[in-house]
Amino acid sequence: MTRAPYRGRFAPSPTGPLHFGSLVAALASYLEARTHHGQWFSRIEDLDPLREPPEATGQILRSLEAHELFADEPVRFQSRRHDAYQDAIKCLITQGDAYRCICSRKQLQENNGRHPNHCRDGHIRPGDQPFAIRFALKDEESHWHDQLLGPQHQTVRAELDDPVILRKEGFYAYQLAVVVDDIDQCITDVVRGSDLLDMTAQQQQIYRALGALPPRWLHIPVILNEQGQKLSKQTHAPALDDEKAARNLFAALEALGQEPPGSLAREPVEHILKWAVGHWRREAIHLTSR
Ligand code: GLU
Repeated sequence: MTRAPYRGRFAPSPTGPLHFGSLVAALASYLEARTHHGQWFSRIEDLDPLREPPEATGQILRSLEAHELFADEPVRFQSRRHDAYQDAIKCLITQGDAYRCICSRKQLQENNGRHPNHCRDGHIRPGDQPFAIRFALKDEESHWHDQLLGPQHQTVRAELDDPVILRKEGFYAYQLAVVVDDIDQCITDVVRGSDLLDMTAQQQQIYRALGALPPRWLHIPVILNEQGQKLSKQTHAPALDDEKAARNLFAALEALGQEPPGSLAREPVEHILKWAVGHWRREAIHLTSR
């Protein structure tokens, strides 16, 4: 069987400007795509306006451009894809793979994750009580292969782990939207930070429920700050300085274990990326984050 041509993506949630950790993820997915002679896309996962400062999307796109990480198609915005998510939810509910849930977080906690309102039976009808929609997971011992980390084993627990796919406030959730768009964009390979590793087995079930084959996954170690915390908005990771794009890319290659020669540090962005595509070695990525 011939493999579908490689299609990869970088899919940031615009909760703030790009920081060094997100650049490392963007660069790894870009280099994987380029060295597979594949295509690479960027997708802004702007699903939650309450967590997204309005300027963040522009900042992210400008940073990607400054680092010359050019995508092969115009950027996609999840905020413009609500119809597709709604269709997917309709289909999942009809199939019995999703259900309306009126339980509060507190009720679930008090019941060890079981639904005191028995929402999974599908008896909650759209009415005046606010409800979320959850995906109905199946109990599963999931075994799958990560392109970098090797064999993976995750336990998926029906009911206890059922993820929200449409929040009570009316926002579509990451777990659904990421799968719907990766299917729609025919993404063959997902390269992302290992903070999302635990989501993968659940996402595989959503792929299957939507009648699609899951992609290959490659999870790179997350970048830690000096205190050992993941670089993120919550840990106050500083925004990348786009004026120092060459230096940032050089440092990102080092963080990915690629050992770029010191002389490259003084080269323009274009040369650094060219070197990186020519010398990319997935197996050199450090498995423990630094
Ligand atoms: N939007 C997600 C994030 O920024 C990443 C999605 C993914 O790569 O699966 O954490």
